[in-house]
Amino acid sequence: MDLLNTLVDKGLRRELPTRDEALAVLATSDDELLDVVAAAGKVRRQWFGRRVKLNYLVNLKSGLCPEDCSYCSQRLGSEAGILKYTWLKPDEATKAAAAGVAGGAKRVCLVASGRGPTDRDVDRVSRTIEAIKGEHEDVEVCACLGLLSQGQADRLRSAGADAYNHNLNTSEGTYGEITTTHTYADRVDTVQQAQAAGLSACSGLIAGMGETDADLVDVVFSLRALDPDSVPVNFLIPIEGTPLAKEWHLTPQRCLRILAMVRFVCPDVEVRLAGGREVHLRSMQPLALNLANSIFLGDYLTTEGQSGQSDLDMIKDAGFEVEGADTTTLPEHRAQAGGGCGSHEGSCGPCGEAPEAAPEATAVAAAEPSEALTARTDLVAVRRRGAGTDLAPNA
Ligand code: SF4
Repeated sequence: MDLLNTLVDKGLRRELPTRDEALAVLATSDDELLDVVAAAGKVRRQWFGRRVKLNYLVNLKSGLCPEDCSYCSQRLGSEAGILKYTWLKPDEATKAAAAGVAGGAKRVCLVASGRGPTDRDVDRVSRTIEAIKGEHEDVEVCACLGLLSQGQADRLRSAGADAYNHNLNTSEGTYGEITTTHTYADRVDTVQQAQAAGLSACSGLIAGMGETDADLVDVVFSLRALDPDSVPVNFLIPIEGTPLAKEWHLTPQRCLRILAMVRFVCPDVEVRLAGGREVHLRSMQPLALNLANSIFLGDYLTTEGQSGQSDLDMIKDAGFEVEGADTTTLPEHRAQAGGGCGSHEGSCGPCGEAPEAAPEATAVAAAEPSEALTARTDLVAVRRRGAGTDLAPNA
């Protein structure tokens, strides 16, 4: 297939594919799917070998957010029966992080619901970062606190944070349909503030919110332009009690095509298989390791993932290896360019943003699955253990 040969050549050279090539990946047939995975897998192995980096989420503050992100169970007015709690204390967060580190996590992602932190919030998160670094010197710490104000990224960096996550989530053209309380431009600005402060930027997307193929290509091209070191790819978990609860559009095959497209467009970036992998990829999860080089271990912010041991078994069974603390995640050229975490050897959640949609983008319709998909509420369990509870996490 000429398309795949071209994309592999470009990926190995870190050359940007054309928009048509990216769209063509999303439009491939089921007969071509294994060839697509094999081709993107060559690019993945060129830059990351067979290593899988493990990340661990700690939800510092859960629920009661004043923002209205439609996909989020923590939004204003959410009727989802999630855990709600205010800031974990530094020792509580450190204890939660320790479970992930013990399970092999190389990065701990500290997430808080809300529009963005106050300066007092930055102080408390700084104390938490220092506490975690004090106990786990080598672990990378990524903060995900929403929109940043001037100077806050510098303060987080000074406290020892390695990275900052803020996702673009969807294309600029459709951003207003997903959230009205802040803009796409606000999100871009926060990612750039993090980069300017020397933090390794982590910014990704959520697929499955009813977007078109062109929207997906738009957001991934915008991410490439923004140049984060890591790109989490979330697949919408349609949680009951949120406006997107009925949006079940994804199939395992579509998830694999999306991941392959992201790998071709962002070949040397840490592509993280994030929320929704268990729900939407199901038994195809191991195949996705040929595309993503990074996953979350255990549970998500407000929903449960498969057990940490199942994650470790899956990695081993699929012929991959957990990335050790003594290995630099990012390829040398990217780490040397100042990629914070890569240089130390090292989405979080939904708080994140998107690029501008090219005019031609609207010409391509979404590749909807051929069969009607029914809601699989049996696959979605609200998190009832780990951070913010008395129960042990499943890392
Ligand atoms: S994604 Fe973040 S900002 Fe948006 S509603 Fe959820 S917690 Fe609030």
